[in-house]
Amino acid sequence: MGRFRGRSTTVLKPKSTHQVSQIMKWCYDKRIGVVPQGGNTGLVGGSVPINDEVVLSLSNMNNVRSFDPISGILVADAGCILQSLTDYVAPYNHIMPIDLGAKGSCQIGGNVATNAGGLRLLRYGSLHGTVLGLEVVLPDGTILDQLTTLRKDNTGYDLKQLFIGAEGTLGVITGVSILTPPAPQASNNVILALPSFNNVLPLYQTVKRQLSEILSAFEFIDRTSYDLAVKHGQGRALSDDEVAGAECFVLIETSGGRREHDEEKLSDLLGNLLEADKPLVNTGVLAQSPAQFSSLWALREGVTEAVSKEGKAYKYDISVPLSSFKDVVDGTREHLRAKGLLHDKAVKHVLGYGHVGDGNLHLNIVADAYLPEIQDALEPYVYEVVASHRGSVSAEHGIGAMKTHALHYSKSPVSIALMKKIKEIFDPRGIMNPGKVLEHD
Ligand SMILES: Cc1cc2nc3c(=O)[nH]c(=O)nc-3n(C[C@H](O)[C@H](O)[C@H](O)COP(=O)(O)OP(=O)(O)OC[C@H]3O[C@@H](n4cnc5c(N)ncnc54)[C@H](O)[C@@H]3O)c2cc1C
Repeated sequence: MGRFRGRSTTVLKPKSTHQVSQIMKWCYDKRIGVVPQGGNTGLVGGSVPINDEVVLSLSNMNNVRSFDPISGILVADAGCILQSLTDYVAPYNHIMPIDLGAKGSCQIGGNVATNAGGLRLLRYGSLHGTVLGLEVVLPDGTILDQLTTLRKDNTGYDLKQLFIGAEGTLGVITGVSILTPPAPQASNNVILALPSFNNVLPLYQTVKRQLSEILSAFEFIDRTSYDLAVKHGQGRALSDDEVAGAECFVLIETSGGRREHDEEKLSDLLGNLLEADKPLVNTGVLAQSPAQFSSLWALREGVTEAVSKEGKAYKYDISVPLSSFKDVVDGTREHLRAKGLLHDKAVKHVLGYGHVGDGNLHLNIVADAYLPEIQDALEPYVYEVVASHRGSVSAEHGIGAMKTHALHYSKSPVSIALMKKIKEIFDPRGIMNPGKVLEHD
């Protein structure tokens, strides 16, 4: 996002866990700060040094260590790129339990370190469930080998969970053991144009009821997000007739075991929706080929890229109750208008998209440039709105360097005090990704 810039002079690219351990021991002894870096696709400045820390890139640790096609358990170096792991397990008829727009660059270690959510969370759950084991190098160079492939292990504290979502502040993840689900035999998708946001929740209820076990994604994009995606060439634009009168769009994906059965369920759903007395949707476009399937997805996945092409983005990745998605987006727009900041030279767009199934809204404010007056208008405003809903200031991207000051809107003083104690146990010299997640005292 170009918002953070450090002054590091050194990037180290170890090739083995042993080398990572040696680097950490050296840095520990000399009290040198270390920033673990994966694919550098994070959106909160977590992988960027703040001062002159050593950057420790995992990109040379990119081998699959083992894969068991019977259990579907994959053990891989942390530097493996998510897409390459997806390609690796595909011939065995498996998929990675996680999928996100940055899959061509992000690494599995970075995914674990950020507890990335993404597009499959609705179906396969979070990495707290699918990660079975981790190998981690601690700040003093000690190798913590918890790279188990067991599905069940109730022997005391589950230490690996602490590193999932720790954003490199407790240790360097060097190996990941993860459960990969069998590939669905048939996937399909449909994009629905809705006349009003008020229809999203009743639609979600109807879709869950009718598609039940084959529903694998239910993604929401508002009209502004859709228009920007189309403007910047992301995916297949719907016709003028199809988008006329649409306030927002929902992309539904199904993944199941038998194509005919799934297609029948999906077209029955579409028929019921369109023929209802009071239709919840204006129209729907069902993918007719693998190419269309991808281009419908690109409309949703491409919003992030479209936003960055359109201008400078203030990104809020928040969890709030589904019913308040629209109020949060509209309220932010009105707030900026009242401050006189909604015009061509300041804020160009306020938009919302996200994973409805997970209650995760991506609120984006696109401006011509990063300006202090926009920042001041947005914060703490957005965080106060989130806190008023008992929501989360970071649903999936993490805290990084960007949101340390906002952690207290989602975590109580008791929780933050315990987090600091945990940090102190693992990293008494404060060398692991300093200034990220927790503010300096
Ligand atoms: C187009 C696009 C779409 C995205 N979509 C999603 C999405 O749907 N869901 C989502 O959750 N995120 C999404 N993201 C954000 C980002 O891709 C994820 O946070 C991703 O998991 C980061 O992985 P990375 O390898 O790039 O990590 P980096 O950006 O390199 O690092 C992220 C953090 O993890 C730490 N870290 C990295 N590797 C390690 C390691 N081996 N050990 C310890 N710490 C480490 C870093 O220090 C940093 O704090 C998206 C980003 C883009 C650009």
